[in-house]
Amino acid sequence: MTSLANLVDYHVHTARCGHASGTMEEYVARAREIGLGEMGFSDHFYVYWLPEDQRDPELGMAAHQLGEYVAAVRQLQEAQSAVRIRLALEVDYVPGWEDRLANLLACERWDYLLGSVHFIDAWGFDDSRYVARYQEWDIDQLYERYFELAMAAAESGLFDIMTHLDLPKKFGHRPTRDPRPLYERVAACLKRADVCVEVNTAGLRKPVGELYPAPLLLQACHRAGVPATLSSDAHRPEEVGQDFDRALALLREVGYTEVAAFEGRRRTFGRLS
Ligand SMILES: [Zn+2]
Ligand SMILES: [Zn+2]
Repeated sequence: MTSLANLVDYHVHTARCGHASGTMEEYVARAREIGLGEMGFSDHFYVYWLPEDQRDPELGMAAHQLGEYVAAVRQLQEAQSAVRIRLALEVDYVPGWEDRLANLLACERWDYLLGSVHFIDAWGFDDSRYVARYQEWDIDQLYERYFELAMAAAESGLFDIMTHLDLPKKFGHRPTRDPRPLYERVAACLKRADVCVEVNTAGLRKPVGELYPAPLLLQACHRAGVPATLSSDAHRPEEVGQDFDRALALLREVGYTEVAAFEGRRRTFGRLS
């Protein structure tokens, strides 16, 4: 397997989100064990605007946990030097809340922010508890609606990276029409917004059994000149860097020669050797 010393895993959760396990030290230890150069903690920041009693504590940390989360990441940055640790969040995009969100996020110097869409209206479509609702949708219309939200998220200027870009496929619901025209629009939008796409190996562990995004979507991103980065979406320490050989193979296959990295929201690139 390729050396991971130049590479990053930019999507790693912590137990604060209510559905991940292990200590943060164990995630870092795993990164060190596999020779990964850089890892970013990017825990779920979800329905940040709702009062505590209206939130599902299994979906993300609460706004009041932010300070403690940041302190824990900083402590790990200082405690060891084998792995560079970045400070990030995976932030749910919900239209209409951009200003409130920008204010909440302004409190810290993040290395990067992942933008994600897990909700269509109030439906958590990637949550296995609500999977029956796929039956109410024409799947192609669902993808149109989802990508409208993902494009609005990219254009919001709040995020550096769009994560698991074709998430509605998680349970195996793939587009039935040729998705290429839609993918072209999405890729052009990410390019205009100067936002990266993330190759995320979590899809391999889900019913769909495929990397996010689909090869055709990543290909469209590459053709449009959208930079790519790399992640596992780890919710357990042993998932850090998991299946990166497959992610790297796909990146190379579509023509990428480097992956993006961030510090203080400034982008640099590491070569895929
Ligand atoms: Zn999660
Ligand atoms: Zn996510």
